[in-house]
Amino acid sequence: MGTAGVVGVVLVVGLVLLILKWVLTTVAILAVPFGIWWTCDRLARSRRLRAAEQQALSAQRRRAEVEALASVDAFGGCGWCGSRLAHVDRRGRMVMPRDWHRAEIEAVVSRAPAAAR
Ligand SMILES: [Zn+2]
Repeated sequence: MGTAGVVGVVLVVGLVLLILKWVLTTVAILAVPFGIWWTCDRLARSRRLRAAEQQALSAQRRRAEVEALASVDAFGGCGWCGSRLAHVDRRGRMVMPRDWHRAEIEAVVSRAPAAAR
């Protein structure tokens, strides 16, 4: 290999190193904004997920709390409306307060104040 060959090899190696340097610089420059964007996106997503979970949990708690009011009290009456007599349907069967007052319970649960959620 003559002088021209050595110069050619040096030029090719230099070009490869130049391209490599350019690629690495581009990656380093792009990594910062994309890294920031990725972190922010992840944080926002986890925050949204946590809020949704919290809301579902409090809605569930609210429903359980309201339904607990519609129970048979210690005297066998209705805890929801205060009737001393058990609710009886047309066929003479006893109906649990929770089933008897289902529509009212749903109404109370659906108009739960936003602050309580
Ligand atoms: Zn009742």
